[in-house]
This record gives sequence, structure tokens and C-alpha cells, in this order.
Amino acid sequence: MRRVLHVLESMGIPFSLDEPLKNHCTWRIGGPADLFVQPRSDEEVTAAVSAFRRNDVPWLVIGRGSNLLFDDDGFRGAILKVGRSLGGFEIREDRITVGAGTWAPCLARASASAGLSGLEHTVGIPGNVGGLIAMNGGSLRRSIGDSVEWVRFLDEDGVLKVFSPEECGFSYRRSCFQDGRRVVVEAGLRLKRSMPGEVRSEMEDVLKERKSKFPLAYPNCGSVFSNDPEIFSLWGAPGRVIELCGLKGLRLGDAMVSEKHANFIINLGDADSSDVIGLIGTIRSVVRDSIGRDIPCEVRYVEPKKGIVPLHEIFRSGDNPRFKKKEQEKRA
Ligand SMILES: Cc1cc2nc3c(=O)[nH]c(=O)nc-3n(C[C@H](O)[C@H](O)[C@H](O)COP(=O)(O)OP(=O)(O)OC[C@H]3O[C@@H](n4cnc5c(N)ncnc54)[C@H](O)[C@@H]3O)c2cc1C
Repeated sequence: MRRVLHVLESMGIPFSLDEPLKNHCTWRIGGPADLFVQPRSDEEVTAAVSAFRRNDVPWLVIGRGSNLLFDDDGFRGAILKVGRSLGGFEIREDRITVGAGTWAPCLARASASAGLSGLEHTVGIPGNVGGLIAMNGGSLRRSIGDSVEWVRFLDEDGVLKVFSPEECGFSYRRSCFQDGRRVVVEAGLRLKRSMPGEVRSEMEDVLKERKSKFPLAYPNCGSVFSNDPEIFSLWGAPGRVIELCGLKGLRLGDAMVSEKHANFIINLGDADSSDVIGLIGTIRSVVRDSIGRDIPCEVRYVEPKKGIVPLHEIFRSGDNPRFKKKEQEKRA
């Protein structure tokens, strides 16, 4: 780690030690990362990643942390945050070149002002463009991948590459960028010409509906569970399934299934990662007992010593004993 710090210091790349991750996610949960790096240019991203690789420091990339659960133990290694300094965009006719650190709602509004349609569904998604692309995020049955022409990223070997949409492997809430080891730095989007007023008014409708449906007054991570086509065709969206199982309002510690929208888990104040994981485990087992199927998680979990995995993967080998124990202690 000392050699990595030397590289960062000598290049003036901003970093901090023992950075509380709860300050970098929308759930406001998570212990310290050994090293937290905030590069301001492609060169700084490349230099930081090559220093991590040369010195065998485990690392991963994040955006706004609006789809991540950090552990109370934080992360043993380096977190590379692609933030505002790597943001910015240029609009030319119906094309936009956008930096990965751009806040998605800001890009959506700018596209509306330019009379471009296609990003209306992203206006309420509180992530950065890099995270949006990695998650192939979207709403109203649309995804950002529908508008992507190319993505520029730093690959696992530290080489800058450009991928076409096909190479990005976009499918429902999936892309090839999700393991946190390829760093998206820029993307090219192509939108449709429209009238600014029309695009803006559609965005206002989207925002109004989201405000009425989502529990935005408490820290949360958006939809915890993702749509499984088979479950959807038989029982509906995950929120409906959880509601039908009578789980609205279920609480573990300070984590609670929202009364407003059952696919949201809200942090009532002092929730920790084991509260959230315990609650998710309980929801999954009640749903499994009721419909005979496991619901997959959209939220991703940062394991302190490994990296990013879809949260349901930690339940693969049966219930995680560590969380089971904590859950029992809290219930007692
Ligand atoms: C209130 C609320 C509402 C939401 N509504 C929606 C919605 O309608 N639709 C939807 O799809 N999502 C929604 N989300 C979830 C979340 O906002 C999206 O998934 C968002 O795109 C994540 O962006 P982020 O910058 O926060 O990424 P993070 O949460 O920081 O990271 C998510 C994943 O992306 C990867 N990643 C992040 N940045 C980069 C990068 N530069 N290069 C490579 N990989 C990267 C990370 O490694 C991680 O695997 C919502 C969340 C909240 C809190």
C-alpha cells in the first residue's frame, strides 16, 4: 500500500485513508475503506489502477453508491470513485459525449433542453452515468443501453478501450462492467430529436409518479429486488410479491421494508449492513415459502475482502451464518 500512496502523492491524485463508506452511498451504511481515491482525469484513473495492480492492492470502482450495500467492515483495499471531476458532456446535434462522473438526472435535463428524447426514463435515477451504464439502468421498461453508441473504459489490464453496445453485453440491468474491475470513463449516446417542452413535460410526469410511489424521505437504495420474468408473469413485480406476503413494515434493527413501496428497504436512522442483509434473507425465505421461487437482488453488495457481487449471491450456500447469528441476537 505504501508504494501506491507514493504514486498518488507524487501525481497529486486526491485520496483519503480509512474513509467511511457510508458517506458514499445512498443507504448511508458502511465502514471504512482502507484507501479512497478520487481521480480527476483519464490519466489519473490509469495511474491509480496501474499502481493498484502493480502492488496487488484489491480495488473496485464505484459511482454514487446508489445501487450498493457496503459492509460495516468497509473494504480492505482501494475504492476508486468516478465522481464529478470525471463528469461533463457535449451535445452535438442528436449525439452526446458524456463523462462517466456526470450525474444522470443532470444529463437527462440537459438533453431535454436540447430537444433530445430518449433519457426521460433516467431523470429520477440518482446515479452517475458510469454506474447507470454498468447497471444498464432505466425505468418504464427502458434501459440506458438503448441509447448507447459506444463506451470508453479502462480494462482489467489497464488499457483504454472502446466497446460497441453489443460488446458491452447489455441485457436487463446487466452489462459487462458490473464486477467493478473495468472503469467506464466516457460514453457516446444517440438520442431522438423532439421538442424541449414535450421532453420536459414527460420528465416532470416521470418525477411526479416516482415521488408519489417511492419512500424518498429516508436513505434507501432504490429497488432491492429485480424483476424475474417468470415470477413477474405469475405474480407481478417484486414489490407486489413482497406486499402479498404481508412483509410491508417488517423491521430488523433500523432497516425496514417500506410501507410505501415494498421493494424498498429504508434506513430509519442507524441501520447497519447486517440489518439489511438479515431483512433481505427473511424476505427471500418468506417469498420462497409462499411462491416456491427465489427473488434475485438488483442491489449489489461490496464484500470487505473480495469485491462486488449481486447481494443474493451471499445466500447461495444457505443462510450466511454471520448474519443469521446477528439477526437472532437482534430478535432476542
Ligand atoms: C431512490 C432511488 C431510485 C432508483 N431508481 C432506479 C431506477 O428507476 N432504475 C434503475 O435502473 N436504478 C435505480 N436506482 C439504482 C441506482 O440509482 C442505479 O443502479 C444507478 O445507475 C447506479 O449508479 P451509481 O453511480 O450510484 O453506481 P454505484 O451504485 O456506485 O455502482 C453500481 C455498479 O456500477 C459499477 N460502476 C459504477 N461506476 C462505474 C464506472 N465508472 N465504471 C464501471 N463500473 C461502474 C459499480 O462497480 C457497481 O457494480 C435507484 C436508486 C435509488 C436510491
